[in-house]
Amino acid sequence: MNETADATRRGITLSAEETDRLYRISARVNAGVSVEQILDAVFEEFRPILPYDRMEYTNVDDGGRLLTTTWVRATYEPVILGVGHIVEPERSIKETLIPGSPPFLENDVQRYASERPEDHPGHKLLAEGIRAVMSCPMFVGDEAIGMLFISSRSEIFTSRHVQLIQHVASHIAGAIAQSRLRVALEQRNAELELLHRQRSALIAGISHELRNPLTSVVGLSMTLRDSLEKLDEGEAAVLIGILARESSEAAGIVEDLLTVSRHESGRLEVSPEVRDLRGEVDHVVAAWQTPERKVRVDGSNAWVLADPLRVRQIIRNLVSNAFKYGGETIWINVRSTEDGGVVEVFDDGPGIPEADRETIFEMYGTSAESTGRGEAVGVGLAMSRQLADAMNGDLTYQFENGVSSFVLRLPRTDAEAQATRWE
Ligand code: ADP
Repeated sequence: MNETADATRRGITLSAEETDRLYRISARVNAGVSVEQILDAVFEEFRPILPYDRMEYTNVDDGGRLLTTTWVRATYEPVILGVGHIVEPERSIKETLIPGSPPFLENDVQRYASERPEDHPGHKLLAEGIRAVMSCPMFVGDEAIGMLFISSRSEIFTSRHVQLIQHVASHIAGAIAQSRLRVALEQRNAELELLHRQRSALIAGISHELRNPLTSVVGLSMTLRDSLEKLDEGEAAVLIGILARESSEAAGIVEDLLTVSRHESGRLEVSPEVRDLRGEVDHVVAAWQTPERKVRVDGSNAWVLADPLRVRQIIRNLVSNAFKYGGETIWINVRSTEDGGVVEVFDDGPGIPEADRETIFEMYGTSAESTGRGEAVGVGLAMSRQLADAMNGDLTYQFENGVSSFVLRLPRTDAEAQATRWE
């Protein structure tokens, strides 16, 4: 950039020192990688030719409706109006965001603040001892991308200072825009990489989860085919029971995956109808009962308005988890509440550490306790909570006195009225 020619075009005559400084700013700005490095360069190089004590950069967000402070430097401490401050710009500042408008200049911050409400940023600047402020938007094309606020504790700013800052702002706008774009791209890349890693882990986990029940199904059906005549009726019934449970487990996993993909593409639908939660629980649990391990179900009928397929999916997940991660004893309680029904799935296993009790409900969230078991994928509970939400209910976890409980609540709305009519 030819500083002198550029300044002449803007109607400023630069002194030798100013030309030199502006040249150095340009060189450092061009070498700067991050927005912070670019702004640091301006702060350090510009001070000898412009009397300021503080410089602030705000992003212009939401088409100029919000200014977010992302960088501040001052020659003093403490800085009261700091990074992270978000403000809706008032009219005098908003107007400067229109291309061709003059920058904002205020040489009497004391009076300026006193005319504004207590929570106005002007009061914070005053508390920092600031006397004069000017701001200058940075444009890329016709779009304002950011704003520089330059403040002084001792001097006032002249129109020449304004011209100089405009000159600098126009030079750094492109570099800042480029740097922001690079950061956004890097972020996006990191997100994509994470997504890719999660997908790979998911595929590995799913294959593992499916392999277990399918291996049992294959093995058991071969035993039944080859040795049926050697088995007595009781033995055959046990094997068929396990076969039913394992194949229903495999089908359940596939159904869960379909649900997740429907949810992700916004095509998940629930069709609520009047249902008795106790009936749904009994239906799911029947597939899990074995002579060695029984799940006890207590409680009454509880009529709710819910999609039976989805309710079963949630309960199946909770029971399957209790088998995988829970203790020896698993029991379920169903009860009616004032506004709906509740299913509680209990087990006396080690439970989930406090730090993991919410993350297990996030997609791909598993508890550290279960990692290493090779089975944890972290889809079931996230999906179950989404389903409960979709039916206006909720799903939560508690651990008390050595007992884990997953609590599914579903609403009744007008379900009870309809149920009594049907009975
Ligand atoms: P997955 O079983 O595939 O990991 P889930 O979303 O169903 O996915 O479960 C998430 C995590 O919650 C499990 O990995 C496990 O760490 C934990 N978890 C779920 N149920 C129980 C339970 N009954 N006892 C202890 N930990 C559990």
